[in-house]
Amino acid sequence: MNLNASLTIALSKGRIFEQTLPLLANAGIEPLDDPETSRKLILETSNPKVKFVIIRASDVPTYVQYGAADLGVAGKDVLLEHGGEGLYEPLDLKIARCRLMVAGLPDTQPPTSRRLRIATKYVHSAERYFAAKGQQVEIIKLYGSMELAPLVGLADLIVDLVESGNTLKANGLVPLEHIADISSRLVVNKASWKMKHEAVSALLTSLRESVDGE
Ligand code: ATP
Ligand code: MG
Repeated sequence: MNLNASLTIALSKGRIFEQTLPLLANAGIEPLDDPETSRKLILETSNPKVKFVIIRASDVPTYVQYGAADLGVAGKDVLLEHGGEGLYEPLDLKIARCRLMVAGLPDTQPPTSRRLRIATKYVHSAERYFAAKGQQVEIIKLYGSMELAPLVGLADLIVDLVESGNTLKANGLVPLEHIADISSRLVVNKASWKMKHEAVSALLTSLRESVDGE
């Protein structure tokens, strides 16, 4: 076991970075650059043994799975899509909370001559959800602005994250069915968990205390 291991933590810009920062600061880890203004993808921190890699939210599980990062912070939505292979998910950080929902126009009728069309970036979660209901659907993969799809006849419904519901409302859509509660999770590479156990568990303990408000 490496008692004094260096740790690489994968984070995405935006809400996850902003909301993880105070938790990491409590563990004595503060970035030396601001990722919103710096173009650097690798950030040194106040702890010389710890660095951050700044990547797309949906890439976090991949970096951690392959050990390019020892740890990462990823939304449960992203983890449900990824499948969680090669990862431990030891801590719910309870940040970036929202719900994965089915939404659509308020008067949506199921089509009679074809399968229901669902536009989403969450293909696997949507497939699993409708399959569990025994509903045959056609999934249309999008990368963003899902709210547009029902308005222009691309899909009957969408599966997307909903926080306040304001984006849906602004586009005349309503939340229809709840699929899952979403928050961000700490994920750990399985080999790092073993080989760098001391360092990983020290960080985990500190983060757990911050989450629990101790
Ligand atoms: P990219 O823009 O790189 O494709 P993204 O749009 O998924 O990534 P964000 O919008 O920052 O990136 O979302 C990152 C994570 O934050 C999501 O995976 C989800 O877990 C969470 N999240 C997204 N939207 C909301 C929201 N409205 N409220 C709370 N949490 C959210
Ligand atoms: Mg986004």
